[in-house]
Amino acid sequence: MKIYSIESTIPVYTMSITSELSGIPIHSIRQYIDKGLIIPFKKESNRNLFSQVDILRLKFIHKLLVDDGLNIAGIKTLLSIIPCWAIRKCTAEEREKCQSFYSNTYPCWEASEKGTICKNTNCRECEVYRIVENYPDVKSFLKTIIT
Ligand code: SF4
Repeated sequence: MKIYSIESTIPVYTMSITSELSGIPIHSIRQYIDKGLIIPFKKESNRNLFSQVDILRLKFIHKLLVDDGLNIAGIKTLLSIIPCWAIRKCTAEEREKCQSFYSNTYPCWEASEKGTICKNTNCRECEVYRIVENYPDVKSFLKTIIT
């Protein structure tokens, strides 16, 4: 996993600044949040904040949609094949209880029923959620999870 500086993971940018820095329209960012492709940091006031690393993630998602011809459902399917149970070393018993072990249509952080390991984890901080920060395109991402 690429190591980012602590500063780059701190959520400091508002929605409008994030839109400006990433070049992605606000309505698109809102859509990516609604569809579970990105989990923003929520302030107590319920406002969303983003970090530099979140901006990289937004750019990756946007590239998949605009340059690579995927749609939202396709990206969710792609994210659903990340083998989170192997990365987080879930036991067979935990896998049984976890919806994401069976789903082909949404990423693990969207599952309503999760295994014990995940229940107390902030998905925003999880290595599974953060895996897409490390790949410039779909193929290098797939090569890593398949080999
Ligand atoms: S903690 Fe969240 S992102 Fe990590 S494996 Fe569990 S559900 Fe997925």
